[in-house]
This record gives sequence, C-alpha cells and structure tokens, in this order.
Amino acid sequence: MRTAYLVGGNKAASQFESSREGALMPSNSETVVIIGGAVIGSFVAFFLRKQGFKGHIKVIERDSTYQYSSTALSAASIRTQFGCPFNIGMSLFGADMFRNIKDWFGDDANIDFEERGYLILGSEASSDTLQKQAREQMEHGAVIDILSPDQAKQRFPWLNVEDLGIATYGAANEGWFDAWALLQLVRREARRLGAEYISDEVVGVDVNGGAVTGVRLGNSGTTLACDWCVNAAGAWGGKIAGLAGIELPVEPRKRTIFHIKAPLPGEGFPMLFDNSGAWIRPEGDGFIAGIAPEECRDPNAEGDFEPDHYLLEETLWPLLAHRVPALEQLRVQRAWAGHYEVNLLDHNGVVGAHPEVPNFIHATGFSGHGVMHSPATGRAVAELITQGGFRSLDLSPLGFERILANRPIVEAVVY
Ligand SMILES: Cc1cc2nc3c(=O)[nH]c(=O)nc-3n(C[C@H](O)[C@H](O)[C@H](O)COP(=O)(O)OP(=O)(O)OC[C@H]3O[C@@H](n4cnc5c(N)ncnc54)[C@H](O)[C@@H]3O)c2cc1C
Repeated sequence: MRTAYLVGGNKAASQFESSREGALMPSNSETVVIIGGAVIGSFVAFFLRKQGFKGHIKVIERDSTYQYSSTALSAASIRTQFGCPFNIGMSLFGADMFRNIKDWFGDDANIDFEERGYLILGSEASSDTLQKQAREQMEHGAVIDILSPDQAKQRFPWLNVEDLGIATYGAANEGWFDAWALLQLVRREARRLGAEYISDEVVGVDVNGGAVTGVRLGNSGTTLACDWCVNAAGAWGGKIAGLAGIELPVEPRKRTIFHIKAPLPGEGFPMLFDNSGAWIRPEGDGFIAGIAPEECRDPNAEGDFEPDHYLLEETLWPLLAHRVPALEQLRVQRAWAGHYEVNLLDHNGVVGAHPEVPNFIHATGFSGHGVMHSPATGRAVAELITQGGFRSLDLSPLGFERILANRPIVEAVVY
C-alpha cells in the first residue's frame, strides 16, 4: 500500500491543515525565495509551477558550478529499504519519476537510471530484524526478495556468505542514476517555467512579526522581499535557519567516495551494503565504494572537502575484500568527498516550518538520502505553499515540531 501516508489518516496532518483551512492559492504578486538552487531547491521551484503557483520564484544560489553541493558529489543511488514508511513513499515517487523521466522533462531527458537493487546483508543475529523490516517495507509498496545465504550465493557467486544469516534485495524501484543530469534537467525546466535563478549568497534573513519579510544578499548588497522563504541549502541548512534565529540541528559531515577498478564484472552487480557498513556499486567501467567514518572521527566538516584516504586502507578495503574476495586486487582511480546534511536528532529530513515563523519552510537534513527524495520533497513543499498542507504524501512526521519537542523519529536503516 504505497499511499499509507496519505493525508486524512493522520491527525497531525489534519491539524496542520486546519490551521490553514481555507488557504487560497497565493496571489500572482506573491514571491517565493528559495535559498539553494541544487536538486531540492530546483524541485521546489519546478513543483510550485506544476501546481499552478503564478507568483515570482527566485532561487538564490551562490555557486553556479555546484562544485561543493552534495548533489554533485553524491553516490546518486535510490533505495526503498527504509525503516520509516514515509521514506519508502518518497523513494517510490522518486523511482517512478526516474523511470519515466522523459514524461516529466521531455524526449531528450536522460539520467541513465539503472534500476537495480540494493543487496543488504545481515548476520545470523540480525536475521529476524531484517526479515521483519523487509516485510514491513513490502506492506508499504517496496518489492523485496528475502534471500538465505545460499540463495544469495547462487545469485551473486562472487559473494562470501560464510558469516551471513540473511540478504535482502530490492527487486524494483532501487538503483542509481546521474544526479548531475537530474539537477540540470530540473533546473532547466524550472527556468523554462519562469523561475529566476540569482547568483548571490544569502547572508541575512529578516524576520518581522513572526514572518520572514526578506533575504539579504551578500554580493549585490540588496534585500529581496518575499512572502515565502524556503531553506534548501543542504548541509548549510542549519546555518541558514540560524540567520533567522532558528535552531535547526543540521550539520555537514564528510563522506568520502573511492572510485576503483577491480577484476570483477560490474554487470548484474548490485548496490551492495555489507553488514559492516561498507558499500560498493558499479560506476562506469569500475566501481564506487565508501563507508562512514567512526563517530569519533566524524566532526562538523564545515569547509573540509579533503577525501579521507586513510579510510580505504584502514577500514574499507579489508571489509570489501572479506565480503568479495576478488576485491583484494582493487586499484583506486580517484577519491572525492562531499557533505551529508546530517540531522543530528534522527537522521531524517526536515520538511516544514518552525511554528513561530510559518512562512519559512525548511527542506533539509536528509542525512544522505536527499537526491532520491528530492522529487517528493519538492512536491511536498510546493503543496504546503500552494494548498496549505500535504496532499500527495503526508510528510507531517518530518515537520519541525519533533525538533522542538526533541522527539526523534529514528530511521533504523541508515547508511
Ligand atoms: C558522498 C555522498 C554520497 C551521497 N549519496 C547519496 C545517495 O546515494 N542517494 C541520495 O539520495 N543522496 C545521497 N547523498 C545525499 C545527497 O547528495 C543530498 O541529500 C542532496 O544532494 C541534498 O540536496 P540539496 O539540494 O538539499 O543540497 P546541495 O546539493 O548541497 O545544495 C545546496 C545548495 O545551497 C547553496 N547554498 C548554501 N548556502 C547558501 C547561501 N548562503 N546562499 C546561497 N546559496 C547557498 C549551495 O551552494 C548548494 O548549491 C550523498 C551525499 C554525499 C556527500
């Protein structure tokens, strides 16, 4: 049931809706300012127009090369194997769009969507939990094969299954794609539909009488008046909220990706998630791989984009070689690092406004799954603005209220 989170069955959402009951489509003279013009900001702009918003849309992006944006540096993969049903729903919408990208963005649209599963491995001890999770995921529309170690070995003969108890494989709606191409498409379409991209840096957010009234730009020195403001600044989202005096526990955490070559065919190779936390998937004529650093080596990474080379030698390589013996012979081609926009409360996105500044909508904190969830997030934020509440998928669990109440909704399946 992929619509389990539709508005109507959820009290919180109904309450939110009734607080803006009778909300009219904003008038043609209203202005939405979006801070951050990468994949999430661009999807907000795109869906605002798709949903009939006729006012002004101004997207402020300080770096038109996007070289440090998480979007450009990500592993660009999509999975439905999540613990929280709303994350599954968001992925299903994303996968559907990626599969039918030409219907959304025209005949020349291509994001090289490779629909292939995540293969998630578990030990004997975690077998029951993973099996239960997979069944719950299926109840929410995911298509998952639950495999015994022998079945996994049969399907993926290069896999060492000695110490495994279970494997789950996403048989549909999972895979990887070209995130850069996706960004270019949605940005192009948002502009064609009349969104204006402004190359500048937001250095201030003016709040008067419980509403954002304008954003200050550092380069031009001007203030842009607005009726709505959207925080789509990714790993800088906590800082942007801070400009309005709002505390949002979103911080940049560095993640390194290694591009490697190995004597192993990429054909049929899944997005492999080992129970150690190491991951690897095919990319071009090689593979990309990574692992999160230990918590004690994972500080706020503001400004630090230097790849952590030690991770490969010390941690990642031995784990990969244990799981896939052919990887003993890997050769590193290059490495790069980007920032996860980590929501320190619960590793889930924040989609909504602080109740005391209701026209400032945050769409950040996705903690490593923001590209796959960007279409659903853009659609959801546009619904908040144009219709006063979530309409397609109820994302009210991701609202600001849980941050204020310090009530995490923990995502059990985190990578
Ligand atoms: C190594 C790595 C691997 C990842 N793998 C995956 C994956 O496989 N699947 C997945 O779904 N997600 C993945 N992610 C996460 C994903 O990349 C992010 O969740 C997503 O890109 C967030 O998009 P965004 O538009 O919010 O942020 P960004 O892409 O970071 O864009 C934010 C933009 O805001 C701009 N900005 C910031 N501050 C200001 C300001 N003051 N004024 C103007 N502009 C400003 C920045 O220049 C930037 O362009 C990964 C991330 C990393 C780092």
